[in-house]
Amino acid sequence: MDLATQTHLTKLRDSLTFRLSELRADVHAAEQAQRELTGSSAHEVTDRKDEAAQQSIADVDGVQEQRDLDEMTEVEAALHRLDNGTYGDCSDCGEPILLQRLQVQPATQRCAPCQTAFEHVRDRSSLRRASS
Ligand SMILES: [Zn+2]
Repeated sequence: MDLATQTHLTKLRDSLTFRLSELRADVHAAEQAQRELTGSSAHEVTDRKDEAAQQSIADVDGVQEQRDLDEMTEVEAALHRLDNGTYGDCSDCGEPILLQRLQVQPATQRCAPCQTAFEHVRDRSSLRRASS
């Protein structure tokens, strides 16, 4: 591995580590908020409309939290790949992922064509789930 690549990898590791700490803080804050919400709703919410409103807030937080958790898994996997030297190779076709792509999305595990194919399949299957 040449020095330039090594430098890039160090930078990418830094941004992944930073992103991971951000996500951990987000998830922690969301859990804290969730706890306060459920704690207070048991005592204060008597109106059914309030209850519904609180529930929908909790749902939105839940979606955001799930997204954070998903990203956290991706970032952790990317850091793991950095450790075992497989980072930067596409998980589907095994070709090296373009550095420009890694700089924008350090946690990505696929090259652009494979990611497009993957999202296409995923969109189609979620479409099927929605219509059934
Ligand atoms: Zn690929």
